[in-house]
Amino acid sequence: MSVIVWKKIVQIQWNFLWGGHKSVRKIAWVSWDKVCQSKRDGGLGIIDLRAVNLELLGKWRWRLISGGVGLWRDIILATYGSLFPSPHLGGRLGGLRKASCWWRNVSLLGDPEDAISDWFLEGVAKKVGNGRLTSFWFDPWLDGVPSMSRFQRLFKVSAHSSCMVGDMGSWVEGQWIWVFRWRRDLFVWELNLLESLHEILNHSTISTVEDSWFWMHDPSGHYSVKSAFLALSCSTANEVIFSVEEKRLLPKVWKTWAPSNVAVFSWQLLQDRLPTRQNLWKRGVIGDVSASTCVLCGLEPETADHLFGSCNQISQIWYGILRWLGVELVPSHGVLGFF
Ligand SMILES: [Zn+2]
Repeated sequence: MSVIVWKKIVQIQWNFLWGGHKSVRKIAWVSWDKVCQSKRDGGLGIIDLRAVNLELLGKWRWRLISGGVGLWRDIILATYGSLFPSPHLGGRLGGLRKASCWWRNVSLLGDPEDAISDWFLEGVAKKVGNGRLTSFWFDPWLDGVPSMSRFQRLFKVSAHSSCMVGDMGSWVEGQWIWVFRWRRDLFVWELNLLESLHEILNHSTISTVEDSWFWMHDPSGHYSVKSAFLALSCSTANEVIFSVEEKRLLPKVWKTWAPSNVAVFSWQLLQDRLPTRQNLWKRGVIGDVSASTCVLCGLEPETADHLFGSCNQISQIWYGILRWLGVELVPSHGVLGFF
């Protein structure tokens, strides 16, 4: 699925949820990140098509780097030559300008061109054997980090920046000896960097077996869409999407006999994301603050707490219903006091 296609589908989902069409844009009262969270985690459980698209593009990248065979791979290699997927894995950004939309999507995985890494790169590592299929500078074969990232200075002055690991040394009396060539003499501080590089290289082993990739998010070492989904979820896990209180309350709105549109209304209410006059004024829909007072009593700003709790025109009805239900309202908690 190309970026254009999934963006259009997301737009259709968005329009369905918030209303509106091509010429009329409605307000998105809740961020799409929250909408796509599972109901158990406080969201609406709408499938995040962007994540689905990235997982599938990641599958293509995995098949390309892990050496799958087939006519499709021959065609891609014939089309793009030495252009390797992802700028972080040796791909050339300049080559992307002439590339197809699909190849560009596989190469960037939704990130901007100047991104220093992506979620896929952070999930793969290279097991080096004889080093013939592993790029010395671009592949993450040393502690899972590309050497070009860790030793940027040395990479810039290297005379063999595109060489494979197996080309960067030779066997001498049964021992692997690293051989570096530089475009100029190294400065003293660069020699210190080279010493650090050698220390790391001393922990690596060159053998006679073929190099291979492994996917770190699956015990089998192979890429799967399911494990990619978990990896993508983890990459956003540190972002604060819901407060602790929202996480506790929002899943409760689905435990009801009420129709789903009422549950969604409650979901928005608990986040204060309803088109109350106060919220419309905050978003510039109502220009005059005096027009943001309660439509029922006209005495106070029309907030969710006021409209659904403290308004003298409505509170008596709520108290009557709650008394009939045998629920005790905690006034200081406003709307949240119902829960
Ligand atoms: Zn009122």
